[in-house]
Amino acid sequence: SIAYSNGQFVDLNEPVIPVEERGHQFGDGVYEVIRVYQGKPFMLKEHLERLIRSAQAIKLPIEERLTDYEHLILKGIEKSGLSDCDVYIQITRGISPRNHLFPDVPVSTTMTVKPSKMLNPELREHGVKAIFHPDERWANCYIKSLNLLPNILSKQAAHDAGCFEAILVRDGFVTEGTSSNVFIIQDGKVYTTPLSKQILPGITRMAVKKAAENLDIPFIEEKFTPEQLKQADEVFITSTTSEILPVVHIEGEQIGDGKPGEITKSLYKEFKTFIKSL
Ligand code: PMP
Repeated sequence: SIAYSNGQFVDLNEPVIPVEERGHQFGDGVYEVIRVYQGKPFMLKEHLERLIRSAQAIKLPIEERLTDYEHLILKGIEKSGLSDCDVYIQITRGISPRNHLFPDVPVSTTMTVKPSKMLNPELREHGVKAIFHPDERWANCYIKSLNLLPNILSKQAAHDAGCFEAILVRDGFVTEGTSSNVFIIQDGKVYTTPLSKQILPGITRMAVKKAAENLDIPFIEEKFTPEQLKQADEVFITSTTSEILPVVHIEGEQIGDGKPGEITKSLYKEFKTFIKSL
């Protein structure tokens, strides 16, 4: 593992964040998580574009630095010596005496490169359990911001209930998971929440859309209710680190026959061919 902080590569355990860092003080920043397979970052361009969009949305002007970030990430991967790893990169509004107003200081960049969090293979093989939880987040969930308190509280609630993920519900409809996008399959068609300010435009979601197109599986971006999810033939969640993960139980009830579904499995197989073709 390796870490980077404002111009220097450091040991992961090095204490490099000053107290007056705005990410630390206010959560005033944005981030990305990128999965690296066999030394190659997966959909790096898409992650960088989302990073820039998130930054623009919080008025952090970093668009000219896109290639610097790209080089930094590639250098970090190289320096880590790891081939299967997760890159975490965080950009904040910088280091300045605590004050809500924007300071006139350079942005702060930190990064870690660590071995990929290996998901217990049993989870993918047998599927995971989930709960529903009210979506108590703010109005701009399309920004990948450092403010993750509602996500953390909901994820912990899921864990305390013996489940892997909390599926968030706002105004009677499923939005997304605490750190994943949510999909249901009904009558051979994949449904997922349409992109809006209420959800993060997942990079894995993008890959699933492409996989569905390749397999001629209809991909429908339409809202669905918790009840529709419970009655679905198959359910799965996606994220950079868990890829495509079947959900087989919701609120203590079995979904379909309680086993990962065939369409979910074929989408995962197609997804893996994208990784191999890197
Ligand atoms: N929604 C939220 C709230 C997330 O935190 C994540 C994971 N970063 C996702 C969706 C999935 O996005 P991605 O596929 O880009 O990891």
